[in-house]
Amino acid sequence: MFIFDLQVSNYRNYAHAAVRLGRGVNLFVGDNAQGKSNLLEAVYLLSTLRSSRASSDADLVRRDILQTEFPVARLTCQVERSAGNLQLEVAVVGRTTDPSHRAGKRVRVNGIAKRASEAVGQLAAVLFTTLDIDIVAGPPLLRRRYLDMMISQVDRGYLRAMQKYARVLVQRNGLLKRIQEGAAAATELAFWDQELAHAGGIIMHARAEALGQLILQTGIHMERLTDGQESVGLTYKPALGGLDEADCPIDDTEWTARTLRAFHDLRRREISAGTTLVGPHRDDIVIEINGMAAGGFASRAQQRTAALSLRLAEAAYLRRALGDDPVVLLDDVLSELDVRRRRGVLDYVDNFQQTLVTTAEPDRVRDIMTKAAGRFMVRGGTLTPFEGG
Ligand code: ATP
Ligand code: MG
Repeated sequence: MFIFDLQVSNYRNYAHAAVRLGRGVNLFVGDNAQGKSNLLEAVYLLSTLRSSRASSDADLVRRDILQTEFPVARLTCQVERSAGNLQLEVAVVGRTTDPSHRAGKRVRVNGIAKRASEAVGQLAAVLFTTLDIDIVAGPPLLRRRYLDMMISQVDRGYLRAMQKYARVLVQRNGLLKRIQEGAAAATELAFWDQELAHAGGIIMHARAEALGQLILQTGIHMERLTDGQESVGLTYKPALGGLDEADCPIDDTEWTARTLRAFHDLRRREISAGTTLVGPHRDDIVIEINGMAAGGFASRAQQRTAALSLRLAEAAYLRRALGDDPVVLLDDVLSELDVRRRRGVLDYVDNFQQTLVTTAEPDRVRDIMTKAAGRFMVRGGTLTPFEGG
């Protein structure tokens, strides 16, 4: 798929901007703090309905209008897809003083109001940023988020299970606290155990399946980007309280049964901790480079290449699951790569229908400048056609 029209209003540092985009590479050039990342964040938001940067909805609304009566950022795009063309509109309502205006996001798909969970993934996108290295070097939360954002674009059941899991987890933790304080009976857990284990089973099964597909692709990219010098390994580490992980469950029902067993085995510890100790909210993926833990042993360059390989594998995963290309977003990542890795990334994303590339250093992307379908200058929240120079 590819976006042929993109418009934003009162969004971040943009008052209003509209661009026609083409198939192939579209290049956005501009100095620092002009709005390049904001624009790719807008595309990512249209795809996932979540910001790529941790922020509240109010942060997305242009600061100048935030104090007005009805502060709304609007994002719109038109997409050509093999499953039929798509018009997508997201309105982000910032904090309001008027109680009749609810803050939050509203979505329209082809003009019809939809729930967020129905709109996620209508536009598929994979975003590469300079922060991706933290998928490899950072805490487990970022590896879970990597999987979650990828799978929820292609699997609505996963998204629903995630939402349910989050709700039930809060309930169950509250109950564990009350049992610990003697204000509730342990028998009350049975219902919440079932609910949580059921949603958790769906999540863990989907994560294990997705990872199974990613392992091969990630390995291929890592080898290709390093001329066969480096290898990468991925292992799913479900947090199930020391159950035998070699004996891997084969479907969500088995994952649910495992979770219930873990709840049973850890009953006393969970009550004394007053919180849920097992389940997908504590999962991790172990990443190894050349057989050693990537977080602790690998060099920064090795970690960066592994993260790049994970994103390339994500693009392949989305394409396979959707039968259509995701839009590839490269935010500032090319300038930090050496020539071989840059070539490796560009050669691969060349296979996808559309790529949006940002850079503050046009001199470093001369090669793609000449063949880019669209070239734009980003300056203070405005977009103008750019001829290069
Ligand atoms: P760099 O090359 O440093 O990555 P960039 O072009 O990617 O820069 P962006 O991250 O897109 O820059 O941000 C540009 C500007 O947007 C920043 O100066 C920031 O203060 C501003 N900005 C962010 N949110 C808002 C908002 N809600 N209202 C107004 N301005 C905002
Ligand atoms: Mg930026």
